[in-house]
Amino acid sequence: MYGKTQHFEGADGRLYFHYPLHARYLSKTTAGEPLFEHEITACEYIDGKELYTLACNGAPITGAKTLEQVDLILGFFDHDMTEPGERVELPLLEEEVRLYYEDLAKELRKANAEANAKLKGTEYFKLKSQIESLSPPLRFARSCGDDKKAAELEVKLNALAAEQHKILESVGVDRDVLTKKTSCAVCGDCGFTPAGDICSCAIGRTEEIKKYNAELRLARRKA
Ligand SMILES: [Zn+2]
Repeated sequence: MYGKTQHFEGADGRLYFHYPLHARYLSKTTAGEPLFEHEITACEYIDGKELYTLACNGAPITGAKTLEQVDLILGFFDHDMTEPGERVELPLLEEEVRLYYEDLAKELRKANAEANAKLKGTEYFKLKSQIESLSPPLRFARSCGDDKKAAELEVKLNALAAEQHKILESVGVDRDVLTKKTSCAVCGDCGFTPAGDICSCAIGRTEEIKKYNAELRLARRKA
């Protein structure tokens, strides 16, 4: 374990803190005499880094230590693990969010291409351009207060939209997929806010994203 400065990948494919919480390590002299016992007393994940609080022979060591620093402290002498502690799962990682949303976008692009292919040869796109050509006159009629003309155009537009709807249903195409409608207005379905933070939509899907990434790791392990 010593010298490996990376997250711990569990048998379930999920990521955990490298050092287990409340694990104890007994350092020894080369002659095998016990020297110190270190305990991991707390672990937290801040700014993409695993940070640990330790105690030495029961007395707290000041300041949080990085994974590399814990490696150094424990690696200075030979040591045995005397208490295995408990594995603590890492919070949602940026790379997990990125991968999940990238794959989701790929799926959506594929579905969008399939939807377009299904509509090829139908009247759908012809109707779309007819609807588009009627929209400016409708806006104009409304702005002039020409209610009669506006109502007339609305009837036409509704009829065209209904025809479009029928076509979508007959070929089994979802309008949201076709129009690439985004479900999150904050991140536009990329998983990150414009400021670069993990979006609340991703936080709300933490378990799903964790599971997705764990399955990918397990699949990679088998390959
Ligand atoms: Zn979002």
